[in-house]
Amino acid sequence: MTFKALLSSKTDDRVVTELVDFDEADLMDGDVLVQVDYSTLNYKDALALTNSRPVIQKFPLIPGIDLAGVVLESSNADFETGDRVVLNGWDLSMGHHGGLAQRARVRGEWLNKIPGNLTTRDAMAIGTAGYTAMLCVLALEDAGVTPDKGDVLVTGANGGVGSIAVAILSKLGYRVVAATGRPEHADYLHSLGAAEIIDRAELSEPRKKPISAERWAGVVDVAGGPTLVNALAETKYRGAVAACGLAQSDALNGSVLPFILRNVTLAGVDSVNAPQHVRQRAWDRLATDLDPKKLESTVQQIGLAEVLDVYEQIIPGKVRGRIVVDVNA
Ligand code: NDP
Repeated sequence: MTFKALLSSKTDDRVVTELVDFDEADLMDGDVLVQVDYSTLNYKDALALTNSRPVIQKFPLIPGIDLAGVVLESSNADFETGDRVVLNGWDLSMGHHGGLAQRARVRGEWLNKIPGNLTTRDAMAIGTAGYTAMLCVLALEDAGVTPDKGDVLVTGANGGVGSIAVAILSKLGYRVVAATGRPEHADYLHSLGAAEIIDRAELSEPRKKPISAERWAGVVDVAGGPTLVNALAETKYRGAVAACGLAQSDALNGSVLPFILRNVTLAGVDSVNAPQHVRQRAWDRLATDLDPKKLESTVQQIGLAEVLDVYEQIIPGKVRGRIVVDVNA
């Protein structure tokens, strides 16, 4: 039997992706077969599809780092037919066929059951970006950041991770300051719960001073580079910065002074290989700490074929919020 899938191939150092009819017999090994309802497009998907970084390590490959759907067949004791499941990261779209397809055969240990009140579409509206936003929030909490300690900064606020981080933090009672290069979307950011919006240019240039006036009790940073260094320099005594991204740069040319004078915590956040108990904690919190109306307001839904028209807009920062892919449309 065949199903619709995107398939990325490499020719002459270029990655070319097409919509194909894929034979189920050609799926890779795995103990759970999933009927995919939805996938998503994240920054990492754009890096893969545009070949900006070597995300896909084996060609041809079905791309897509996320999927949500229903178990069709399982020889894994933890899953049975009909279970609603979500998969974020692991080897998807790297060495294993990914989520931009109507079916996926995967290892059960990569799957999480979707918490009761969330649909498969909700799970992909959240996607890797939203789950990473929650990992960042948990990292701040684990470092002792609480709403009474002061303002929390979110960089890349109009993007997927940033939008969901703003929504979660505001629901938890934080005063959220959103940094963006797209102030024209201020109404959207306020509707997600941002109390204040600043121009990302305030943070994006290298500074001479290694430490600045204290502004942030906590920071969720998707940018890296000078933005991350400046955010660290402005973080309050015993505050924390959760660093998950490189939208500006993967460089970190800063000073240790925020750490040794202000006891600032720099918490790294990885979603791809996070252990299951960490993922489950994040998904359980997403089911309770994210307003469904705000989540919906971040979503743009497209069909599988439309991915080919949209992915190039992501790295230049032209997409707002989350892109959900209905793989059956
Ligand atoms: P999006 O493309 O949805 O959002 C990225 C946002 O970053 C843009 O919308 C823009 O926000 C901001 N941005 C772009 N360029 C710059 C710049 N030069 N300086 C400062 N900000 C910039 O991506 P995602 O939200 O999906 O991912 C964000 C980052 O997080 C990426 O680097 C991604 O690789 C990383 N990531 C890491 C994960 C992990 O496991 N560690 C998991 C998921 C994502 P605005 O328009 O508001 O300025």
